[in-house]
Order: sequence, then structure tokens, then C-alpha cells
Amino acid sequence: MVDQSACVAQGDCEELAPDVFLVQGNVSTVVGQAPLDQLLIAARACPTEAITVVDEESGEQLYP
Ligand code: SF4
Repeated sequence: MVDQSACVAQGDCEELAPDVFLVQGNVSTVVGQAPLDQLLIAARACPTEAITVVDEESGEQLYP
């Protein structure tokens, strides 16, 4: 998920995981799914740490 109050729409997440993130206007939103390793790469690249990765089934927070 993306904390839209922290997102500065700089676009790294969309570039690294285009099936998941869509930057529109001044925020990124989650629009799809991708393998976990790709999600983690995108989340770690976010300059404002706006991305949280959570396992949908268990609810476990995987990042940060
Ligand atoms: S990388 Fe972070 S700051 Fe940049 S668009 Fe994605 S969520 Fe927003």
C-alpha cells in the first residue's frame, strides 16, 4: 500500500513495478500485483518510504 500523504509522485515505484503502481496527479496508487521480490525492490526505492508491503493472506507486514 502507498501512504499517499508521504508520496511525492517521483515515480520510481511505477518504473520498477509498472503492473502495480500508477502515478497520477501527485500520488501513486496500487493498481495491481507483482511477485514479492519486485514489490520489495520498488518499496526500497521509494525516497520517502511511502510504500508498505503486506502479505494479503496472513496480514504480516513484510516491508518496512
Ligand atoms: S516511489 Fe514513493 S514517492 Fe515515488 S511515486 Fe512511488 S510511492 Fe510516491
